Amino acid sequence: MAEPAAKPRTPIESGVPDPFQYMHPTTIRNFGQWKYHERPQPGVLKHVAESGEALYTVRAGTQRQMDLATVRKLCDIADEFAEGHFRFTIRSNIEYLVADEAKVQPLIDKLRAEGFPVGGTGPSVAMISHTQGWLHCDIPGTDASGVVKALMDELHDEFVREDMPNRVHITTSCCQINCGGQGDIAINIQHTKPPKINHDLVANVCERPSVVARCPVAAIRPALVNGKPSLEVDEQKCICCGACYPPCPPMEINDPEHSKLAIWIGGNHSNARGAPTFHKLVCSGLPNNPPRWPEVAEVVKKILHVYREDARDYERVGEWVERIGWPRFFELTNLPFTKFHIENWRGSRQTLNASAHVRF
Ligand code: SF4
Ligand code: SF4
Repeated sequence: MAEPAAKPRTPIESGVPDPFQYMHPTTIRNFGQWKYHERPQPGVLKHVAESGEALYTVRAGTQRQMDLATVRKLCDIADEFAEGHFRFTIRSNIEYLVADEAKVQPLIDKLRAEGFPVGGTGPSVAMISHTQGWLHCDIPGTDASGVVKALMDELHDEFVREDMPNRVHITTSCCQINCGGQGDIAINIQHTKPPKINHDLVANVCERPSVVARCPVAAIRPALVNGKPSLEVDEQKCICCGACYPPCPPMEINDPEHSKLAIWIGGNHSNARGAPTFHKLVCSGLPNNPPRWPEVAEVVKKILHVYREDARDYERVGEWVERIGWPRFFELTNLPFTKFHIENWRGSRQTLNASAHVRF
């Protein structure tokens, strides 16, 4: 008897799930067939398809890290007003998709009544994108969620109105690795002292060659301390970047007094109208002062105020500063310009470990 033909091996699908099963029926019917969109009011987008169908998107800010009761509340709102459909944006906004225009205003009223501000569209201050912080990451020097919550409370009016010259993206990063990326305004941790090494733990916890390789300025050397293998830091070379702390927690760099916050501006990931840009330091040494970080909020509001008054329509923060010049920026904002704003380290081209290779 002939052997049965072997069954062909089929791939195991383990990637992202099929998105169509989660989409609003109006989106599926008109997929790829959208004609135009407009913003009838702050926080609301109206997409019109070639077929004539319209779909409204109502955007509201959330606190990002939510308890179950809040998630249930948001789901109930979706069932009541949006045929059960919502999605989250990368900036932690919730977007409800509504086919029936008559339900748009009642949905907005309901969201406001429940404490979720509707806005974040067009030339507004969008919701701050924040990094993982204490909840998911092991190296934060501050609480990213807390900074975001405290600042968005202060910037509520800028979120719900569209009265900025252009969109303002604010980011935070709770360590100097800056996984929050580039922002029009960025609030980042800034370490100001080299790491303190707990020599009793290094041999048990750290893979020393990896830690040595991790330092961008080659400031770490293997050393024998009290007869135990450990590491030492050349403090003259150390730029206090904190890169050695993740692979070697006994190299503690977070410090309640010496870990500060710095504000950078003019970063942009997009290459829509010009090349992407890195943000640049404008204010350093602000106290890491929970739970409301008032010193940081004051500087951010000052920058936003001057930007709103002085920038031309459609200019992003970086474009505005490039036009008026950095001296004028410091003049207008009254922020002190110090020696720490100047990148004068000539060795960087030769010694800065700027390779994109992943090292283990
Ligand atoms: S900014 Fe740093 S500490 Fe914060 S989540 Fe990203 S890598 Fe972790
Ligand atoms: S903080 Fe940065 S520069 Fe200083 S020793 Fe660690 S990795 Fe090197």
